[in-house]
Amino acid sequence: MPSTSEVCQTSGIYRVVNHIKHPKEITMVKGKEFPPCSECRARVEYSLKEATKH
Ligand SMILES: [Zn+2]
Repeated sequence: MPSTSEVCQTSGIYRVVNHIKHPKEITMVKGKEFPPCSECRARVEYSLKEATKH
């Protein structure tokens, strides 16, 4: 599971999975680093919800 500061391998929509306080969804592009929580800067893990369609 990708987590904060790892490089994204698959473009798409990701959901925060281990951070109940701020269960955000973010759009990621391949090659970018996964950010920390946008609210409190905590390190979080993500799961791919929907890959970007081409
Ligand atoms: Zn947070």
